[in-house]
Amino acid sequence: MMSQHVIVAECRDGKLRRVSLEAIAAAKGCMADGDRLAAVLLLGSDGAGEAAAASATAKLLAQHGTDEVIVIDHPSLGRYAPQVHLAALLEAAKALAPEARWWLGHTAIGRDLAPRLAARLGAGQVSDALAAARGADGRIVFTRALHAGKALERRAFLPGYPTIVTVRPNNFAPAAIVAGAAAPIRSLPFTPPQSHTIVCDVVRRASGTVDLAEARIIVAGGRGVKSAAGFAPLAELAALLGGAVGASRGACDAGYCDYALQIGQTGKTVTPDLYIACGISGAVQHLAGMSRSRVIVAINKDPDAPIFSVADYGIVGDLFEVVPALIDGLSSEL
Ligand SMILES: Cc1cc2nc3c(=O)[nH]c(=O)nc-3n(C[C@H](O)[C@H](O)[C@H](O)COP(=O)(O)OP(=O)(O)OC[C@H]3O[C@@H](n4cnc5c(N)ncnc54)[C@H](O)[C@@H]3O)c2cc1C
Repeated sequence: MMSQHVIVAECRDGKLRRVSLEAIAAAKGCMADGDRLAAVLLLGSDGAGEAAAASATAKLLAQHGTDEVIVIDHPSLGRYAPQVHLAALLEAAKALAPEARWWLGHTAIGRDLAPRLAARLGAGQVSDALAAARGADGRIVFTRALHAGKALERRAFLPGYPTIVTVRPNNFAPAAIVAGAAAPIRSLPFTPPQSHTIVCDVVRRASGTVDLAEARIIVAGGRGVKSAAGFAPLAELAALLGGAVGASRGACDAGYCDYALQIGQTGKTVTPDLYIACGISGAVQHLAGMSRSRVIVAINKDPDAPIFSVADYGIVGDLFEVVPALIDGLSSEL
């Protein structure tokens, strides 16, 4: 039986987020012959310039192997407001198969929307999927981490129900543009509901231009960095590599940096290509958020620090000597 897959695309600062292309790839990897893939794009264009950018984003989705792009563009969707965005998705759901398989990024917005949508659609939900594969019986089996990454579980849905999945960012290779593809773009009208909350302003506290959750390279600091000023060389190394700065909770608790940078069980989960841990001991709660990074480099002056047990490369030494040396070496190379 044909299934419909639906990607809920997410934008930031008017640009399609990479995780949405990763979700497309994840869904495509699980589709059978005859299955269809739709993308839902919620936008809050306010003015001609934003409307043009919105239409460019919709076209981009239409080029990535989707069969249809559904756009709901209304000023009330400009800033994330759970009730309004949920109402817009429910509007889109009316135009989709009742048993559709929904795919969202496991981002702050995806995490918030997915369970709301699941409750309203009577759907089953899997959060933070690390892998998805179609089994011989046609069921899609999702893999997710449990107990701070110590165990993996595999889950599949019973047939006949809508399903909702959030996929971990940076874990699937993003879908590529399909030459000549230009799926139809359909706009749906939307009347926003009365919302209990109004988002007046969004103040971004984390500095840096690279989004931590989607960064390919992360330079993270722990309590061993010793002060807010101590993060400066880490930021310099991150900038040199085109990466982002992250932190352990130890560093955040000590007031060296903002909690927006915290990586771990109660912070962000990241899967960069390269994770450089500086002055981080490697507590299990920290490892839960970064141990699936592709290459881990640990810099710690304690040779017995647990971080070395997950590191691909370890440098036993003082980070205040090692990081500047890396900057010097890379500056002459890059
Ligand atoms: C419920 C719960 C949830 C938690 N969630 C998280 C989470 O999401 N993320 C998280 O990170 N933690 C989390 N924690 C806290 C976690 O248990 C650790 O306390 C924390 O990760 C320690 O941070 P740290 O490695 O920076 O500090 P420390 O454990 O103090 O380690 C500092 C390291 O720096 C090294 N060092 C010191 N000076 C230097 C130097 N000059 N050069 C090189 N190395 C140096 C030391 O050898 C040491 O290994 C959680 C804890 C609990 C109970």
